[in-house]
Amino acid sequence: MSVHEHEHDHPHDEISVESAGYYEIMETAVRELLVAKGMIGPGEIRRQIEVLDSRTPALGAKIVARAWVDPDFRARLLADGRTGCEELGISFYDDTALIVLENTAEVHNLIVCTLCSCYPRPVLGLPPDWYKEKPYRARAVIEPRKVLAEFGTTIPDDVEIRVSDSTSMVRYLVLPRRPDGTEGWSEEALAALVTRDAMIGVVPVTLPETIQ
Ligand code: FE
Repeated sequence: MSVHEHEHDHPHDEISVESAGYYEIMETAVRELLVAKGMIGPGEIRRQIEVLDSRTPALGAKIVARAWVDPDFRARLLADGRTGCEELGISFYDDTALIVLENTAEVHNLIVCTLCSCYPRPVLGLPPDWYKEKPYRARAVIEPRKVLAEFGTTIPDDVEIRVSDSTSMVRYLVLPRRPDGTEGWSEEALAALVTRDAMIGVVPVTLPETIQ
C-alpha cells in the first residue's frame, strides 16, 4: 500500500511501504536487543550517524594545510597520524589507526582497500563510490600507473608509486605535495586547494586554473 493517500496540489515522490528486507529486519532486531540489554541507549545509533555525517574532506584538508605550513606539526603527523589529527581537535570515534603518507618528488602514494571499503572516515567522511567498487580495488594494486592515468594523473617513470592497502584497523591519508606558487598563502587558502581525491592519492593538488 501507499502512505500517500492525502490530497496535494503539488507532485511529490511516492513513499511506498514495502515489507522490510533481510538486513532491515536484522538491524532492527540487533538494535532493539542492544537497547533492551542496556548495552546502548535508544538514541545512540542516531547520534553516531550524526557524528559520521559531520565528517567531510574539509577536515583532511585542514590537516594537510597545517602540515604544509608547520614543519614540526608535519613531523608529528607523519609519526602518528591519529594524535596529529587530535591535536587539531579532530576526534576519532573508533579505534582505527591513521598513517599519513607523504608524497615527495620521489614517491607518490595511493590508497586502496582491496578487501572492501576501509577508508579514513574520521577525516574524510564517506568514501566515493569508485573507491568501493571492484575495478579500482583490484586494479590499484596491479596497475596503479594506468589507474592514475585514467584519473588524468601522469606519474613520471622515475617516481615510485606506493600503494597502501587499508584494513579495518589501519587507515591511510595521503599528504599531497604543496603546489608551487603558494608561498605565503594562508592556511585557509591552502586548505581550499586540497581535494578528497588528492588525499586518496589519485590526483595531485593543483592551483585553480584562473591563477595558473
Ligand atoms: Fe575495507
